[in-house]
Amino acid sequence: MPIDKTLRHQILAGIERFAADRVAPLAAEIDASDTFPYDLYREAAGLGVFGLWVPEEYGGIGPDMVTPLLISDIIARVSPSFALIFSNCGDAVTPIVNFGTAEQKARFLPDIASGKIIPCFALTEPGAGSDAGSIVTRATAVDGGYRISGRKMWITNGGVGDLFTVFAKTDPDAGNKGISAFIVERGAQGFTIGRNEDLIGLRGCPTTELIFEDVFVSEDRMLGERNRGFKIAMSTLDEARLNCSAMALGSATGALQCAIDYAKQRNQFGKPIIEHQGLAFLLAECASRLTGSRAIWQRAMSALEHERSREASTLAAMAKLLCTETAMRVTTECVQAMGANGLSKAYPVERFMRDCKPFEVFDGTSQIQKLLIGRHLEKYGLPEISPAEIAALGVAAE
Ligand SMILES: Cc1cc2nc3c(=O)[nH]c(=O)nc-3n(C[C@H](O)[C@H](O)[C@H](O)COP(=O)(O)OP(=O)(O)OC[C@H]3O[C@@H](n4cnc5c(N)ncnc54)[C@H](O)[C@@H]3O)c2cc1C
Repeated sequence: MPIDKTLRHQILAGIERFAADRVAPLAAEIDASDTFPYDLYREAAGLGVFGLWVPEEYGGIGPDMVTPLLISDIIARVSPSFALIFSNCGDAVTPIVNFGTAEQKARFLPDIASGKIIPCFALTEPGAGSDAGSIVTRATAVDGGYRISGRKMWITNGGVGDLFTVFAKTDPDAGNKGISAFIVERGAQGFTIGRNEDLIGLRGCPTTELIFEDVFVSEDRMLGERNRGFKIAMSTLDEARLNCSAMALGSATGALQCAIDYAKQRNQFGKPIIEHQGLAFLLAECASRLTGSRAIWQRAMSALEHERSREASTLAAMAKLLCTETAMRVTTECVQAMGANGLSKAYPVERFMRDCKPFEVFDGTSQIQKLLIGRHLEKYGLPEISPAEIAALGVAAE
């Protein structure tokens, strides 16, 4: 059930203040030091935002699909990295909300909602990225549970994570249908948090290797049914793609605002550079692409909020493809519009450009989105707009 509109407006107003007063002043430092901002995480928790994915009976105020997406957009306008630190919680907690037992929910959800523990989603491996069904991490049945062995890669917030939704093969010969999901806690014997990657962007949000050496998990830490893990993993992807789109749009908006302000005050050839048509056209194209991408994101959000359908999933893939590619293009043009200053760390646009590149890679690369959209076209044709969706259009943007 979505939260009521008054509460949503209150939360978003609080987040706008938090982003401007607390996140923005620290954004360059988080990037430069590549350090997880624990204080900001705790402050965000104090605003109640991690409870948006968690039902009230487990200490949250949700689950609400749209508000976290709007929050990601707002925070990404100043720090895409902190937007991902915040929103990664959704990928990790949603499988527990949707597939967890009452005991698992009661045990973990209140602490996630309060921000006391940081959850992570661990699917990707060194040899299995786009082809997630080819993971080789093994969960072998033993007395009272399973023993997990294998490695995970690129796990967001892994270095600071407390709780991990881990996908492993319980039936190695059954492909996608042989994968199960497990809840593993930091500190489990044989579980090592590996190194954080040194990435081009989204610095400060750790992307980490996880190593499992015969890690025992009791039977009651299996999430959902045995061999149904792949479906659990895939069920998070529509929201994850819209969240990636939200962060991309926020980043591009932050960069474009900076470039417009700069172009109004920077004089060359006797007038502000925005008065040179060539430069104004560049910014006009950026603004138009951004507005168009924002429209498809809102439409996909609205569709998904009203019905979980094949069409809604395809729209989410389209939104992810267009928003992330737009963000890369817009942020690169913003650097161009600011000349040498665009390349300097004295301004945030080079950071926005670096932060945007990973959005084209995770939650399915651009090529994988095209593959999904292409399959839809082949089997069903263009996605149809349903009457319910037409009636609801615009709701998500309010
Ligand atoms: C910042 C960041 C955070 C991440 N966070 C997480 C996380 O929290 N949890 C998690 O489990 N994973 C996470 N990932 C991993 C992410 O999901 C993978 O990186 C992504 O799925 C791509 O896999 P890959 O990097 O192995 O690339 P590959 O799959 O090896 O792809 C390499 C290239 O080949 C292309 N390609 C692959 N298959 C096809 C095909 N069939 N047709 C056309 N082209 C193809 C790709 O588009 C890409 O250009 C994260 C990654 C990053 C960068």
